[in-house]
Amino acid sequence: MLLSIVLPAYNEEQNIANTAKVLGRVLAANAIDYELIFISDGSRDATFREVQKVSEKDTRIKGAEFSRNFGKEAAIFAGLELAGGDAVVVMDCDLQHPPEVIPEMWKLWQNGAEVVEGIKETRGKESLAHRLSAGLFYRIMSRLIKMDMNASSDFKLLDRKVVDVLLGLPERNTFFRALSFWAGFRREYVSYEVRERQFGESKWSSLSLMKYAITNATSFSTLPLQLVTVMGTLSILFSIVLFIQTLAKYLSGTAVEGFTTVILLILVIGGFLMLSLGIIGHYIARIYEEVKGRPKYIISRTIGDIRKNRK
Ligand code: UDP
Ligand code: MG
Repeated sequence: MLLSIVLPAYNEEQNIANTAKVLGRVLAANAIDYELIFISDGSRDATFREVQKVSEKDTRIKGAEFSRNFGKEAAIFAGLELAGGDAVVVMDCDLQHPPEVIPEMWKLWQNGAEVVEGIKETRGKESLAHRLSAGLFYRIMSRLIKMDMNASSDFKLLDRKVVDVLLGLPERNTFFRALSFWAGFRREYVSYEVRERQFGESKWSSLSLMKYAITNATSFSTLPLQLVTVMGTLSILFSIVLFIQTLAKYLSGTAVEGFTTVILLILVIGGFLMLSLGIIGHYIARIYEEVKGRPKYIISRTIGDIRKNRK
């Protein structure tokens, strides 16, 4: 039984050697047969060279390099595609996901679990704003996809069956964290404490997180589109009231004022219209991206006997 560990890495030159060493130690201590697959997500530093260095000493370490930065989601999916294991663990390569949890996941998998979700016990050190917005995001997401996603993360183990299901999905805008819930299968949970990042810094800015949140929410739900209908209905109800009032005033011969009302109406309706167009536009953009059918990522180089894993 082979365990593949997929590690997306974007500008992580300081982490590669250390992570490979720590993982190797933990897995060897538990007699787990493994391969490590580092996906360098178009790193601009020596990440890929570092992978090359460690893989020269250990053939179980493999790697692939993207032609540019495609994002963590793409890196995860590339890893899944290149992995040859009977089970695949996805984890960050900055060791914020504690490697000691992997043997636990492995045991649960051997006992029949097909998905083992890593659940964050604490969120580690984060700013208050980050914590609040993440909380809000997960509340909304859990509502939208009707599954409790709170405290979920990209740290999980998937059975080969599940990996094949995810790889078979035709969509380009993927949200790995939620897709593993969506797919179903027999699920177990392990909780873990998020560690401090040892080297380098977080690769996410507030803006990129916000974009990530909007893209993921809309790729999983059409609820925002229904919001447009709700806004339209509200305007119509409001306009019926005003219609009657205006008509009554006209008939009673006092219909000259009302300039303020006109301005307010234009503003409110204009706002509703723009917002609705924005929401619809966002979905059209999503459809456009999907229809173009471009690949999720482009691999420029690989290390190790990685191509063999491909079906
Ligand atoms: N990552 C990636 N591509 C990106 C951004 C991040 O592959 O465009 C990787 C990164 O190298 C790390 C993981 O995703 O292994 C999590 O990123 P990070 O530690 O910066 O996020 P945080 O832990 O702060 O949420
Ligand atoms: Mg991290």
